[in-house]
Amino acid sequence: QSTIQGSGKDPYPDWKSGDPVPYAALCTTFSKIEMTTKRLEILAHCSLFLRQVLRLTPEDLLPTVLLMINKLAADYAGIELGIGESLLMKAIGETTGRSLGVIKNDQNEIGDLGLVAAKSRSNQPTMFKPKPLTVRGVHEGLINIATIEGQGAQGRKIAGIKKLLSAADANLAGKGSKGVDITKDKGGPSEAKYIVRTLEGKLRLGLADKTVLVALAQAMVIHEITQKGNKVPSTEQLGKGESVLKSVYSEIPSYEVIIPIMLKHGIFNLRENCKLQPGIPLKPMLAKPTKSITEVLDRFEGKDFTCEYKYDGERAQIHFVAHNSPQEYATTVPSAGKNERGISNIFSRNSEDLSKKYPDILAKLPTWVKEGTQSFVLDCETVAWDVVEKKVLPFQQLMTRKRKDVKVEDVKVKVCVFAFDILFLNGEALVNKPFRERRELLHASFIPVEGEFAFATYSNINELEQIQTLLDESIAASCEGLMVKMLDGPSSSYEPSRRSQNWLKVKKDYLSGVGDSLDLVVLGAYYGKGKRTSWYGAFLLACYNPSTETFETVCNIGTGFSEAILETLHSELAEHVIDRPKPFYSHSTVPKDQPDVWFEPREVWEVKSADLTLSPRYRAAADDVLTSGEGTGKGVSLRFPRFIRRRDDKKPEEATSSRMVAEMYRKQESVSKNKGPAVDDEF
Ligand code: ATP
Repeated sequence: QSTIQGSGKDPYPDWKSGDPVPYAALCTTFSKIEMTTKRLEILAHCSLFLRQVLRLTPEDLLPTVLLMINKLAADYAGIELGIGESLLMKAIGETTGRSLGVIKNDQNEIGDLGLVAAKSRSNQPTMFKPKPLTVRGVHEGLINIATIEGQGAQGRKIAGIKKLLSAADANLAGKGSKGVDITKDKGGPSEAKYIVRTLEGKLRLGLADKTVLVALAQAMVIHEITQKGNKVPSTEQLGKGESVLKSVYSEIPSYEVIIPIMLKHGIFNLRENCKLQPGIPLKPMLAKPTKSITEVLDRFEGKDFTCEYKYDGERAQIHFVAHNSPQEYATTVPSAGKNERGISNIFSRNSEDLSKKYPDILAKLPTWVKEGTQSFVLDCETVAWDVVEKKVLPFQQLMTRKRKDVKVEDVKVKVCVFAFDILFLNGEALVNKPFRERRELLHASFIPVEGEFAFATYSNINELEQIQTLLDESIAASCEGLMVKMLDGPSSSYEPSRRSQNWLKVKKDYLSGVGDSLDLVVLGAYYGKGKRTSWYGAFLLACYNPSTETFETVCNIGTGFSEAILETLHSELAEHVIDRPKPFYSHSTVPKDQPDVWFEPREVWEVKSADLTLSPRYRAAADDVLTSGEGTGKGVSLRFPRFIRRRDDKKPEEATSSRMVAEMYRKQESVSKNKGPAVDDEF
């Protein structure tokens, strides 16, 4: 295998074994990926390139994979891109000697800053040939830019971007190449374009993270097998490699940890050498929505299940290793808290480090950990607690807590930890054990302390009336409803990062049409009327389509906001105003449908709705099969949406997916036609 594409001329003859991977080579692969929508072709391009990296420069495998998934590090490291448009425009202008006005004009015309950067660079006379960019150099440069803080941060970030851009080639195919127009989307390979898109946080190649994972597994298997002198791996070997990497990644979602171990021990020995470890957060297991207790009973018919209160707070994964434990604590997160018993962290649903938000929990931890409990990973919900009445407080109270740098002595809203699962205990991963056993271990390893630590209330009941009573009791106790979980057998294991059939949620106020609330991204706003003229009166919201990396609009919303929140939103959103919609926003182009202002995608809001309908004004799931026939050209939209709360714990890419919206619509339609739920909702 001497060329990237497996045949023909080697496009990078200068890339010799041991050389840093040329960034141009990666960009050429990006361009090939961008030109196709076929998943198998995308996978093949990706896997071929990774094989080339493995063969020539395996030490660059990590930065290559990270740039492919457009991440600089694992989520828990908190190093993020998503540089604002104004900063990027300044940097492009300064690098290419063009005024900000000209860049803005180009942006208005072309609408994609990546293409604007490519155009600006290509029109620039080059005095001398800059040193070519390398994958490791670009990765390092991006990390520097993302981690700059403090005084003069803006200027230093611009300097960092300029450094990368001034070494970036505008048109890798060469000027005048047939079929190449780098000012057009999918117009050809360009380093400048991909650098800017990476900085913006959206590569828009149609390359899903999952595809990169499968490509990496394939590349590793083929590399290992061919190194041993065999020609091609069998289908079983490819399948095994993929399943090993998938399961390891779901427990340790960090290529920084996995790739060095995989390179050292090989993919087939990865499982034994790379295990769940306190200090590295797992992606949490998620639940499927249901509309009624009868639906739960239908789904779990004949199986043993359990019903737990669904607490309304914030998800918290608590990691701990005692000082005297033989278990190591992965010291990947700088703010791991130490106390007299050991070292610990709290992570959010998003793998964000919450230790500085909840120092009070970490300080009290030794009081509820039993003596023999030396290391653990707990899955919990933190809930605001009324110390006088000794009961759970509504979610809104928890939201009033500061998010960062909280001092224990300043804490006004007390929280109680409600533990509902244990994933690791005393050196052993428990994720594959049945839930009944995990729950027993949980109860045996901790001591409840009133108002500080408790086990989630549960009952192993299976009659409709009993479940209804428990649901009512949970609501009376300020909970959101019930979580219903499988108790025994392999299907009751903990499934990291999966929205599983084996966890069902039943909320009190599910309406017959739309089962669950939606988490949507704010893309734009309309100025208010009457009393609301000084703020925004309504907002344009969107769901997320991960396969096209676009935000698809789904509704306008103007209900459910207090005046105080409208005021806050107006001042906070002002920072994210942009001149025109991003190229990765999908919305009606009719002038009267346009909002007064557009925003960078930053805020996620939880929204409830009466039902779903089809509308030409919105684009949600518009490319889905459901919009054929009468729905052609229409997107799904929410009717009578109501704002519930801001979701600081979700990134825009974690918003409700277009597929989920389509699924909700289909389900509602089939219910309204009295056919019962038509499809299983594996989102
Ligand atoms: P999504 O909308 O993606 O499903 P979410 O964060 O909005 O996720 P819900 O769907 O409302 O959450 O329900 C799952 C959440 O409920 C969990 O993430 C957890 O934070 C919370 N929760 C409260 N009590 C429990 C419990 N007993 N078992 C599991 N999760 C619980």
